[in-house]
Amino acid sequence: MADAPKPRLAVFKFASCDGCQLTLLDCEDELLPVAARLDIANFLEASKATSDGPYDLTLVEGSITTEGDARRIKEIRAQSTFLVTIGACATAGGIQALRNFADVEEFRRAVYARPDYISTLRTSTAIADHVPVDFELRGCPISKEQLLEVIGAFLGGRRPDVPTESVCVACKRRGTVCVMVAHGTPCLGPVTQTGCGAICPTFHRGCYGCFGPQDAPNTDSLTQQLRVLQMPPDAIRRVYRTFNSNAPAFRRASEAARAEAPTP
Ligand code: SF4
Ligand code: SF4
Repeated sequence: MADAPKPRLAVFKFASCDGCQLTLLDCEDELLPVAARLDIANFLEASKATSDGPYDLTLVEGSITTEGDARRIKEIRAQSTFLVTIGACATAGGIQALRNFADVEEFRRAVYARPDYISTLRTSTAIADHVPVDFELRGCPISKEQLLEVIGAFLGGRRPDVPTESVCVACKRRGTVCVMVAHGTPCLGPVTQTGCGAICPTFHRGCYGCFGPQDAPNTDSLTQQLRVLQMPPDAIRRVYRTFNSNAPAFRRASEAARAEAPTP
């Protein structure tokens, strides 16, 4: 009896740096077993050989920043049974979403010698703002272990077990001294989703929120604590505006801080 066909995997890129796709290649020891169970049908980062959909599992990296990309993601969605977005760009618009708070025409004139050649949207937005998404994997870049969990869950026909608690919980689990309490270092860990193992506090730095907002982030309380640490309103505004500035919870927190800040 012939073997059943393997599920077909596709990986697509939009506006992004490719780091989250590279996480799949970084799997190294686990990559061959994964490749043995999936037919890698479309993954330009790994192979120039591609084949058309439909696809059973599609991983999408990057944000939507052009009209062409807004059309392309709809075509990809139509060809995909399960669509998973990977990384801060795909789940929250990425660092390029800083344009959402500024005048993109001014950027275009300042950066490009021929701005008339550049066609772009005024905003950078998450994939889920354009099409239904079955699962969002956070991080900048994503965690290899969480990516393998998502792929394993897909192959096993179950929902991925990816924690949504805060980085603080990871700090406590590994016995890391709290940099905010012990040293007064500003830290976004209380409102940021875990997944990194609290790397930054473990190396005596505050978390800067690269995994984006956790399930129920209390940004009002954290903002109050940042004020206690003597951070000026403008600095508080900027602390929420990094890789996940357009994630709703961080956007609201930055706008609330902006209301008090002297500069736009
Ligand atoms: S160092 Fe940051 S992430 Fe860790 S417990 Fe303190 S506030 Fe939370
Ligand atoms: S501690 Fe924060 S900034 Fe550092 S890797 Fe983890 S989520 Fe990212």
